[in-house]
Amino acid sequence: MERQGFSTRVIHTEYAKKDAHNALQMPIYSNAAFEFDTAEQMENAFLGRSPDHAYSRISNPTVENFEQRIRSITGAMGVTALSSGMAAISNVFFTIAKSGDNIITSRHLFGNTYSFLTSTLNAFGVETRFCDLTNVEEVANAINKKTIAVFLETITNPQLEIADIASLSKISREHGVLLIVDSTLTPPNIFAALEFGVDIEIISSTKMITGGATSMGGLVLDYGKFDWSKFAKLSDLAQRFGPFAFNAKLRREIFRNLGACLSPYHAYLQSLGLETLSLRFDKAASNCLLLAEYLQTEGKITDVNYPGLKTSAFYEVGKKQFGSYPGAMLTFNFSRREECFVFLNKLKIISRASNIYDNRSLIIHPASTIFCDYTPEKRAELGVSDTLIRLSVGIEEVEDLKNELHTALI
Ligand SMILES: *Cc1c(COP(=O)(O)O)cnc(C)c1O
Repeated sequence: MERQGFSTRVIHTEYAKKDAHNALQMPIYSNAAFEFDTAEQMENAFLGRSPDHAYSRISNPTVENFEQRIRSITGAMGVTALSSGMAAISNVFFTIAKSGDNIITSRHLFGNTYSFLTSTLNAFGVETRFCDLTNVEEVANAINKKTIAVFLETITNPQLEIADIASLSKISREHGVLLIVDSTLTPPNIFAALEFGVDIEIISSTKMITGGATSMGGLVLDYGKFDWSKFAKLSDLAQRFGPFAFNAKLRREIFRNLGACLSPYHAYLQSLGLETLSLRFDKAASNCLLLAEYLQTEGKITDVNYPGLKTSAFYEVGKKQFGSYPGAMLTFNFSRREECFVFLNKLKIISRASNIYDNRSLIIHPASTIFCDYTPEKRAELGVSDTLIRLSVGIEEVEDLKNELHTALI
């Protein structure tokens, strides 16, 4: 049978067990514990010999259905849904890292991820080495015997930088280190992580997947391609679980012990969001390209950055990895900081807010908000200038957004 399309697969993922009432939408199992008919069944569930649910911190039917939908659209071997994107990131690194190890990444990272790596994880003796991930040679030179992973965001925020993932995968494979990506800005309808040699994928489902910023959530996807037998921390588990070693460590220890499970109610909302993900993304991303093209014609704006613009330095690599619409977020600059504030204060339908990938358009001045704790020198190093505006484009009618921007630019 031909492989079905994205939305068909999302909508027609089968339940793990037949629903007692033939409900067409997976019900919300909002309960903590599950009863067993016999002590033997209970033992089997705890030993992992049967797929029965025992306790919702460990697994839950509504959450499991959401995970299975993600598996059917991505081809991932193991999928774990968590309470937030940060929970997904911290669970991944606590699963793989031990004191003395190092991780290679870029300074162009989501702020809390940067803080997690440099403060939280660093306190456990795990070093983060920064380099320019768009320079494959630099990455190869940064890898040493203590390196366990190369970690990147598919499109960095707010620099909108795109590294060549297949090349990074090749280098990582050669050195026996993991390639981990945070693909929040390029959801699975446009980015097939498996095809680019990604080992572990992380997604903040809070963003495009929730269907309008309805809840918090995170996902960890394990593609089952890594040889864990040579990975010091998991080599014992590799003998028992083979390609499932990472998933076993995560599900049977780290995820269970850290307790950052996804609420069944949020899993329900995010399952609904998944059903319309591709429609909503297409609308937001095509709006984004149209607005980027339009903003280039506005005299007060000095430059517009969107990797879908042919003028972008990342146009080719973006197209190769994500197609013609690399995300639904753009940035632009004014000549002076004061102009940014005047402009922001004139907006009526675009919301001044820090989230991204809502149904509504969201706008922010990163230097005075997300990056306000940094010195101007540090901000410059991070590629966040005082005149930069970030716009996450929603699914409103593009003419209304254009009119709004034009009126505020007069
Ligand atoms: C939002 C975001 C996160 C964190 O996700 P939360 O759900 O807010 O915890 C991580 N990475 C990227 C790229 C994000 O945009």
